[in-house]
Amino acid sequence: MHTRRENFDAVVIGSAQAGDQLAVDFARAGLRTALVDSLGSAEPCVDSACAPSQSLIASANVAHMVRKAPDFGVRTGSVEVDFGKVQMRKQAVVDGLRSQAARAFTHTAGLTHLKGETRFEGPGELLVREDGDIVCALHAARIFINTGARPALPQLPGLDEVPYLTSGSAMELEELPDHLLVLGGSYLGVELGQMFRRFGSRVSVVERQVQLLPREDRDVAASIAEILRADGLEVFLETEAIGVTSDAAGGVRLKVRTASGEHVLVGSRLLVVAGREPNTDGLNLAAAGIAVDARGYISVNERLETSARGVYALGGVNGGPAFTHVAYDDLRIIRAAVLESSSSVTTGRVCPYTAFTDPQLGRIGVTEWEAREQGRTIRIAKLPMNRLTRAAQMNESRGLMKVVIDCDTDLIIGAAVLGVDSGEIMAMLQTAMMANMSYTALREGMCALPTLVGSRANPFVALDS
Ligand SMILES: Cc1cc2nc3c(=O)[nH]c(=O)nc-3n(C[C@H](O)[C@H](O)[C@H](O)COP(=O)(O)OP(=O)(O)OC[C@H]3O[C@@H](n4cnc5c(N)ncnc54)[C@H](O)[C@@H]3O)c2cc1C
Repeated sequence: MHTRRENFDAVVIGSAQAGDQLAVDFARAGLRTALVDSLGSAEPCVDSACAPSQSLIASANVAHMVRKAPDFGVRTGSVEVDFGKVQMRKQAVVDGLRSQAARAFTHTAGLTHLKGETRFEGPGELLVREDGDIVCALHAARIFINTGARPALPQLPGLDEVPYLTSGSAMELEELPDHLLVLGGSYLGVELGQMFRRFGSRVSVVERQVQLLPREDRDVAASIAEILRADGLEVFLETEAIGVTSDAAGGVRLKVRTASGEHVLVGSRLLVVAGREPNTDGLNLAAAGIAVDARGYISVNERLETSARGVYALGGVNGGPAFTHVAYDDLRIIRAAVLESSSSVTTGRVCPYTAFTDPQLGRIGVTEWEAREQGRTIRIAKLPMNRLTRAAQMNESRGLMKVVIDCDTDLIIGAAVLGVDSGEIMAMLQTAMMANMSYTALREGMCALPTLVGSRANPFVALDS
């Protein structure tokens, strides 16, 4: 059979948000561009990652707020969650975002959109297949890999035989689980666990490390655990899952090992959120000489170039921090290199993130633990949220602010803000870091009251008192 072969200036593999935009920008700049996307093999942000999860979390937080209404002196009736409507609302948000992206494609001349699985056949050569049939062969001077990552499954005896949920399928549930066992207590585990608890499920989080959020400082993670427990979640730390089976009633029995011996946790559904792995396996990267690291992520330099000339990798597939805004920043770097011949790099970029628990955890820069490991001389400015007037007014005084300061320069090198709207507070600290502003400038500057950042009890005042 004769295979259709087409030449392009640029081919983007993977239609996540960054990939879509990159393809549109190239085409608008006059490059003959193809965007190739597989059909639902992964979990792009719009379909089953941040867009749906943030929409669902917003509904869960409304349920929580309404339950707390009597604390504000507001009487409500009993709170019921209509999970079908919650899902419809989420879907409307996701569909809206998806149609925005589709509109951009339709109105972009010079952009070819192909559906199918992509595989390298050699340097600059790709083959696209749909249901095993070859759609076409592509040749491109430049290729951009944006295939993202997917949930990794732990080596857990019995997992193949039970109907488990992942972060993606959990977004599509039609019925609330009675009792959700969450395997993994990192960011997705705590966000989704709290969300299901607020919808009304019983939730048990199982984490093998000594703390939730193992990359965070011990005191911050302990504060998150306290918040989740106060919300009614069960949190099992230093608890390793060692096997899973179904029970006669259709539920799951999770066998765990703890310091006190082996136990069985019984729940109605199991959610596995135990890490991510890159979508690189089907790409046949070796045929084009594209190197991967030990975990299978594509190795890139600071300009996001792979080991193969003319091939770049952006977003979660290159093993950088797994956030949507990082994928967008990768897009900025690549766009600058290809369209503006400038040399933006990833080196030294400051990557903020927010865990969307309620209250949120806003994070930027190094943790206290990392700074000490690096042998830096530091000071810690720390303030419990219950010292902030605004937090009391908003009835959410849980959490803490913690800022890591380099003693040699007085610069802020990291911050963890666990508290109401703390993703926004962290952004202020990020701006100070980006501007190389000393902590004393922040301490002495005037902020509007009563805002969260404008509290007179700011962490830097506490530091020097
Ligand atoms: C539940 C959840 C919540 C999250 N919440 C947040 C958040 O609040 N904030 C945040 O910043 N980040 C969040 N993230 C992380 C964020 O979603 C990812 O970091 C982001 O989606 C990575 O984008 P990406 O461009 O690398 O690729 P992805 O969004 O993973 O998309 C990859 C695309 O490539 C396609 N593809 C895969 N393989 C192939 C192939 N062989 N050929 C062609 N196409 C292929 C896929 O179909 C998909 O369209 C969350 C993730 C999850 C799972």
